[in-house]
Amino acid sequence: MDFFGDTALNNIIGSFGEADVAAMAARREKRAAEQRDMLLRNPGCCLVSITLNIAGPVKRTGLTDRLFFREATETLNAVAEAEFPIRDGLLIEADTGTEALFAVKGDPEKIKAICVGVEERDAAARLADIDVIGPDGAKAARPTPRKCLICGEDARVCARSRAHGVNELQRATAELIRERIAFEAANLAHRALMVEVAVTPKPGLVDRNNSGANPDMDIEMFRTSADALSPYFKEMALAVLTAGQGECPLFIDGSRFGEKLAAKLRTVGLEAEKAMLAATGGVNTHRGAIWSIGLMTCAYAYLAASSPKEGGEDPLSGDPELLCTAAARFALLMGDGTLPSSKGSAVRERFGVGGPVEEALLGFPSAREALKKSKEYLDSRSKSSVIVDPWAYGLLAIMARLSDNNALRRGGEEGARFVRERAKTLLGFGLEAPTREFLDALLAFDRELTEKNISCGGAADMLAAAIFLDGAENGPDTRRERFIRSLTEELCEK
Ligand SMILES: [Zn+2]
Repeated sequence: MDFFGDTALNNIIGSFGEADVAAMAARREKRAAEQRDMLLRNPGCCLVSITLNIAGPVKRTGLTDRLFFREATETLNAVAEAEFPIRDGLLIEADTGTEALFAVKGDPEKIKAICVGVEERDAAARLADIDVIGPDGAKAARPTPRKCLICGEDARVCARSRAHGVNELQRATAELIRERIAFEAANLAHRALMVEVAVTPKPGLVDRNNSGANPDMDIEMFRTSADALSPYFKEMALAVLTAGQGECPLFIDGSRFGEKLAAKLRTVGLEAEKAMLAATGGVNTHRGAIWSIGLMTCAYAYLAASSPKEGGEDPLSGDPELLCTAAARFALLMGDGTLPSSKGSAVRERFGVGGPVEEALLGFPSAREALKKSKEYLDSRSKSSVIVDPWAYGLLAIMARLSDNNALRRGGEEGARFVRERAKTLLGFGLEAPTREFLDALLAFDRELTEKNISCGGAADMLAAAIFLDGAENGPDTRRERFIRSLTEELCEK
């Protein structure tokens, strides 16, 4: 999975092997023994066994693990929330598939009902097999039989008669998982835009107070625009998840990303822009965000689908650096394929004044800075009950360093310098001053920029990117670490 030879990515991304019939049979025997042992160790408990039903010789990829850990975490949380104590747990990660086994104190029928609820939550969850085994070793029956992925009939009947070929099943399986990951990626993108526009005050920009230096826009227009863009972010994620696939539709192969994917992403980007203009009556609300947030969405999908190197870190660990690195690789893919060596003069020569392309190629330094600064602000205010929105503070960090194209166009070199200097001053002031005074200073800055007709749209896009990073860090429960942490916490509670 050599995504343009990036060391940071290649150090963590690997692949899993295939499992033949003999390996699967050996695993079944071992599983039965593990279940007997766990019942013996935990008398009176029943067991919850979670596996995925994946057709074909490849039982485990980054995509299947993502689904597995989501279902496993969901099951664990649902059982624990119903106040059934969890007494024991086992996670098996092998080429035969990822599996989990818990011992739970409680009525098998009631626990089975909870597990069926998890299995039927959405389309992708139906790939999970969540069995409940009573203290006597008997499997609790499912009230209604599961439906076949392909034809919707009783799944047991189709399995017994081998009604559908492996290829057909693999394709249907891959589609369900990809849809789910793409949906999550698009949700993070949509949320980033919705949270960003609501951050108040944002000097010179549209916020909940006013339209700043943009009399042709308002907050509702931004929300309508974000809604219109959501399906296109999903389409970008799907384009990544279906690109460069080998024999197995559950793999994505970054080494095969090329012009075809770049062209597809460009097309989706242009369609997104059209949809935005149609939704806003011709106003450019999110052109920059389609680029930046689109790249982040692609990066999220790529990392979500990547398998970790054996025993290594989860590619979707939530680490903002890693997500930004992958997003920079997508920016490179979308450009002419050359990466500037470092920040500074070379980049400025190539791309002119620092803008969204430079930011992306450098791995979104402004967005990462905003994320860091907003956390710093939040920590520094931990004792006060009323604070300014930490993202408003994070925005200052972006304004202080970004050569915003919009600011330059509207206010010239002098206007851009004014923005940077004032933002720098306010960054220091915000940490020391009482909240009320800091808020007043921000509102005064808002009035000044509105009067000067300066609107830093590029900074707002970077703020959305920072919010995307934060969302991915605290995002959907699809990670290995998250599951292990939840299991460990539950086991410690007894
Ligand atoms: Zn069928």
